[in-house]
Amino acid sequence: MYNSLRKRLKVEIDQIKESGRYKDERIILSPQKSIIKTKDENVINFCANNYLGLASNDEIIDAAKRALDTHGFGLASVRFICGTQDIHKDLENKISNFLETEDTILYAAAFDANGGLFEPLFDHNDAIVSDSLNHASIIDGIRLCKAARFRYKNNDMKDLEQKLIESSNYRNRVIVTDGVFSMDGTIAKLDKICELAKKYNSLVFVDDCHATGFVGKNGKGSQEENNVIGKIDIITGTLGKALGGGSGGFTSGKKEIIDILRQKSRPYLFSNTLAPAIVGASLKAIDLIENNKSIISKLNENTTYFRNQIKELGFDIKGDNHPIVPVMIYDDKIASEMSDYLLKNGIYVVGFSYPVVPKGLARIRVQISSSHNKKQIDKAVSLFKKAGQKFGVIN
Ligand SMILES: *Cc1c(COP(=O)(O)O)cnc(C)c1O
Repeated sequence: MYNSLRKRLKVEIDQIKESGRYKDERIILSPQKSIIKTKDENVINFCANNYLGLASNDEIIDAAKRALDTHGFGLASVRFICGTQDIHKDLENKISNFLETEDTILYAAAFDANGGLFEPLFDHNDAIVSDSLNHASIIDGIRLCKAARFRYKNNDMKDLEQKLIESSNYRNRVIVTDGVFSMDGTIAKLDKICELAKKYNSLVFVDDCHATGFVGKNGKGSQEENNVIGKIDIITGTLGKALGGGSGGFTSGKKEIIDILRQKSRPYLFSNTLAPAIVGASLKAIDLIENNKSIISKLNENTTYFRNQIKELGFDIKGDNHPIVPVMIYDDKIASEMSDYLLKNGIYVVGFSYPVVPKGLARIRVQISSSHNKKQIDKAVSLFKKAGQKFGVIN
């Protein structure tokens, strides 16, 4: 009898709407790129994870088409029955080479990589020491495993050390962190984390979804930025952000860990193989990053330019020199009104407020891409100036 559930859901939906947190989806009529077409107008897009502009890159699209021709549309199988093609192994090897790890396993999404990671590796004898701002998929993955849980304050190395001391009686321990915290644009202190891991005999896990392909001089992620390549035991990442933005994810790291995941990780064992077109395009994405350093340097140039311009206007911004640029508005209502105003004037950005971020720390998150040109960034800056003055955020 659906009636009783329907009543309950309607009440809940109304509550979400009243609280201003109902999520509406804007329909895009063009490919994902720096200027996107919506029903009403064209807007400059500053809210995609398309950091390297590869989502509409011609070479990537050609590679996807070629893979369709040579390897078909889909595998209609999980990997271990009849779903592994040569290109799946090629991509796993390519990711391992790129990240300088021992082996890699593909998943349908990074959400699945994180969801299927912990349960095969750890049980009640072990402890997971996790950053308080970790991604939802990490939190869900940890929930599915019986290990003891310790939570340390975001990026707080003192607190992490305290939790490592408290958890010293467990068999294996793993420090678990996002490589980049996506609400703040901050990069995890992996150099310090690796030191502590060594001192307290712990493993290190990093989810590098907002870093793989573009953070670090060669795009090897937060491990490269922190000079700890080779010291991270487990890295998860996505093919759905900088690496073309299609979909798919992976876990990369020590050989035996990846081996066990292939045997026991449930989202891998019980979910369909990544489509060949995505695999072909992702291979090409890593090729482009390895062979054309100007994609990453252009992104860094754009990021530095935008961050400097926005600071000069008098806004507070958070984060390290990452293309996620949180422009602090503090007030929930102003953040939402101001992002609406920016959108109406052709700059697509999103405001975040409580409970997504702490109370009183509302912000507009801007995401820079290497596909933005200077004119587009200048337009965003000048509109931020106008909006900031209009809403009383800056003088
Ligand atoms: C985006 C993201 C994910 C999920 O990636 P998908 O491949 O889209 O499932 C997981 N972790 C972090 C930190 C992310 O930013």
